[in-house]
Order: sequence, then structure tokens, then C-alpha cells
Amino acid sequence: MDTDVLVVGAGPTGLMAANELLLAGVSTVLVDRLPARSALSRAGGVQTRTLEALDQRGLLEPLLAGGDHPVGGSHFAGIPLPDAPAPDPGPGAHLPRQPWRSVPQVVLEAFFEVHLAGQGLKVRRDHELIALAQDDQSVTATFADGRSLRARHLVAADGGHSTVRSLLKAEFPGRAGTLTTIAADVRLSGADGLPTHHHSPDGHWAGIFPLGTDSEGRPLRRLAMGGPGRSLPRDVPITEEEIRDGLRAVFGDRVQLLDLCHARRITDAARQVTRYRHGRVFLAGDAAHVHLPLGAQGMNGGMQDAFNLGWKLGAAVRGWAPEGLLDSYHTERHLAGTTVLRNVQAQGLLMDWAGTRDPDVLATRDLFAELITLPEVRRRLSGLMSGTATRYPMPDTAPHPLLGRPVPDIDLGPVRVHQLLRSGRGVLLDPQDALAGAVAPWADRVDRAAGKAPVEPMLIRPDGHVCWVGDPETLRSSLTRWFGAPNRTA
Ligand SMILES: Cc1cc2nc3c(=O)[nH]c(=O)nc-3n(C[C@H](O)[C@H](O)[C@H](O)COP(=O)(O)OP(=O)(O)OC[C@H]3O[C@@H](n4cnc5c(N)ncnc54)[C@H](O)[C@@H]3O)c2cc1C
Repeated sequence: MDTDVLVVGAGPTGLMAANELLLAGVSTVLVDRLPARSALSRAGGVQTRTLEALDQRGLLEPLLAGGDHPVGGSHFAGIPLPDAPAPDPGPGAHLPRQPWRSVPQVVLEAFFEVHLAGQGLKVRRDHELIALAQDDQSVTATFADGRSLRARHLVAADGGHSTVRSLLKAEFPGRAGTLTTIAADVRLSGADGLPTHHHSPDGHWAGIFPLGTDSEGRPLRRLAMGGPGRSLPRDVPITEEEIRDGLRAVFGDRVQLLDLCHARRITDAARQVTRYRHGRVFLAGDAAHVHLPLGAQGMNGGMQDAFNLGWKLGAAVRGWAPEGLLDSYHTERHLAGTTVLRNVQAQGLLMDWAGTRDPDVLATRDLFAELITLPEVRRRLSGLMSGTATRYPMPDTAPHPLLGRPVPDIDLGPVRVHQLLRSGRGVLLDPQDALAGAVAPWADRVDRAAGKAPVEPMLIRPDGHVCWVGDPETLRSSLTRWFGAPNRTA
């Protein structure tokens, strides 16, 4: 075996997966076919749940300290949502949720690469996977230059056109793209203080989002635009004139293009693989789901796939994975992906991308804008978009509002709950100091945090999801379900 896990693709999904695998103590190789990191900025926004995951690994502070990452406004179909989702229900002093941040994908990738290199893992570039074979022991990947590598498991994080997905002949149902819109990184004048989304009465529209600053400290922006007659084939080059024309159609002379850094046409294709697991191969990120980058959910979903998968693969390699743990990756993340696809498709319709001005669509949008003023609706949508409403099924446990949800950042006095997760291990909150004996046989996999705190006893998985709350009768079975057999010598 050359390595425990081979991660194919060093985009946000692959980088996050590699980080989780290193934390779990398994040997990891991370390859990418590109000779150097792509300078093309794609994702611009990092959602609350991803920021929390970074905090749970001690990476949020250094990331934010490394640049100007302004808080941005989240939205649903262009209708603004509150900046940060409300904390989850449940007792305890919850710290406020992290608000959505502008962090360009290139910056995030560079940050992760440096962090991984510091732990001795360098991305192996110029490694294009072209063939794949697996048996019940291992996966063998072959690269374009003829080299091959044998691993126990493979994480396919090779993007929307995934080679691994094709080689597996994995079913990838959904809808082909029906139109294209432009996404461009630009410098603009006249855009300061404007709201994010704009529609002109004749169906042209534009979205303008902050992307931080360029090397000279000037504001960069992500511009998305479209409207009637603007859906051109993907391979038609985008000119500055086309962008100027689109800006004029929405803003008149108010907003001017100063610089065009990158531009691409994106489609509204919406697909998701039927199975995230194929034996020893796991599809993650864009390799598993593609959709319009609406509301900053693509990169975020991919990183959350990786966050879910990493500790489970670690458990499998280290030999303590309980039965069904690896399969729970499909169960949990397929469900989360379906939820994202559904909301993105609804948003695409409500936004009237094609600029049809169809009265039925406009009426639905007006009604929706009205509904969004209701606190309960805002809370629900905000939770969906930010990833904080993600709830994994927790079989055989008594219902509780926090079960299956990402744990809120409870202030325990000397430490925050999210900080406790930095070990990458499970955490048992034991406020009454009554569960030391019960958890002792899992002490090599689960840390116990004892001490008076206004919180219920709670078991938290390494990915921050609550998998048991309060009921002493079911603690043992929950520990076994998520952390494997008890250690008999403990
Ligand atoms: C214009 C635009 C704006 C977006 N905005 C947002 C946003 O604000 N927020 C958000 O969450 N998402 C956004 N997205 C989506 C986001 O960019 C993607 O979801 C994200 O890049 C997916 O990450 P990934 O790591 O799964 O795949 P990728 O980033 O595509 O990475 C895949 C990697 O695999 C490598 N690779 C491919 N094939 C092979 C092979 N055969 N062998 C080896 N390596 C291979 C590639 O070189 C690449 O580095 C946006 C996308 C676009 C296009």
C-alpha cells in the first residue's frame, strides 16, 4: 500500500478532506492534474457552517487574520436574509453564529495549501488520474504519465467534470443546463453602497458581491449578470463590451467597468450522483453534485462533504469504524446535497434568470418576498443557505431539537465547545461530572469535558454534529454506533 487515502483534486473539497485525514492520523496523498493552482476565482463566499468547521479546527482565526474578508449579506433568490443565522434551540449560553464572509476560493485554497505543507503534505501536481481499479483491499489509481498509486481508499474531489465519476460509470441524474449567465471578477466604479441584487423592468439583472481587494488594495467584485437574449453558448468568449452593455441595461451610466480580471459563462445544470460511495471510492464536492452557484453553496457543500467524510475514513483506517459508519457518509451527505439542489433550483426560478418577465414567476417572487419578512421563514431559509440547518438522521435516540444538528458554540467558561473539537476527536459534554465511567471504554476516541456549565449532557461527533443528548439509557449505544466497540481493557 502506498498510502492510506488518495485524495484526487486539490480544490476546496480535496484540501479540506486532506486536512481531516491528517488530523485523524492517516497517511494521505493529495494529487491534482494542474501544474499550479488555478488563479481563476470562483467561489467568493464562505457560509456560517463552513466557518464553524474551520473554527473547530483552529483555522478560522488565522484565515481571517490573513486578509480583508468582509462580512457579506446572505440572500435567497436575491432577497436579502439576515447576516447571521440565529443560534439553535437548546439551553446554554450560545455565542453568536459566524456571519457569511467574503473569502475568494483562490485565497482559501492558498491558505489550506500552506497549512497542509506545514504538516508535511504537499500537493502532488501534474498528476492527472486517468484510470482506476479496485478490489476488496485497495484502490489503484493510474496517472497520465504512467505512474500508479495504491491506496486503501480514494476520495474523488476532482470537480464537476470528475474523471473518477466517469470511470466508475456512476449515475449522475438531474437536469442539463437550460441557459448560461456570466460570472466575472471585476473592478467597478459607482457600485459603492449599492444593494446586492438589481432587476431592470425589462428583465435584465445583475448581482454584485464583494470579493475583498486586489494586490493594490482596490475593491474587487464578483459580478453576475443576465437577462433576455444574454444566454450564449459557454464557449463564446466574453468581451468587455458585453459586460459594459449588461451593466448599462441594469444601471444606465451609474456603474462602470474599470477592469475585467476573469469571466466565464455558467449554466444552470443541476445533477447529483445517486451513490456517494462506490466500494472504496467516495465522491465528494462538485464531483458528487453540480448546480448554479446561487447563494454560495457549492464550495461550502463540498467542504462540508469532506468534513463529514474525513473522520469516518480515519476511523476505518485506524480500525475502529463501527459497521455502517462509512455508509453513513452517503446517507447524510446525499440528503444534504438534495436539499441544496432543491433550494438552488427554486432560487433560479424565482430570480427569473432568463429575464422572461413571466407574470406567474413575478407573482410568485412577490409573494416570496413578502413571506421572507416573516421571522420563521427567514430563520428557515437562513439555516438552509448557511448550512446550519443541516440535520443528520440519528437512529435510536430520543428526539431532541439539537440531535443531528451542528453543535452551537456554547460558552463553557474557560473554553468554547467549538474549541474542544480541535483535537478531531469526539467530545462528551458532562456538566454534572457523572459520565466518566460510562465513556472510559472510548477514552482513546472521545474526550470528556466535565464541569458545571448550563448545558445538557451531549455527545458530539468529530464533525461537530450532536449524536446524543441527555438520556443515560442510550449513551452506550450511541457511543458504539458512532465510535465503535468499547475498549475492553479500559
Ligand atoms: C463563478 C462561480 C462562482 C461561485 N461562487 C461560489 C460561492 O460564492 N460559494 C460557494 O460555495 N461556491 C461557489 N461556486 C462553486 C464552487 O466554485 C465549486 O463548488 C467548488 O470549486 C467545488 O470544489 P471542488 O473541490 O469540489 O472542485 P474543484 O474546485 O473543481 O476542484 C477540483 C480539482 O480537481 C482537479 N482535477 C480534475 N480532474 C482531475 C484528474 N483527473 N486528476 C487529478 N486532478 C483532477 C482540478 O484540477 C481541480 O483542482 C462558484 C462557482 C463558480 C463557477
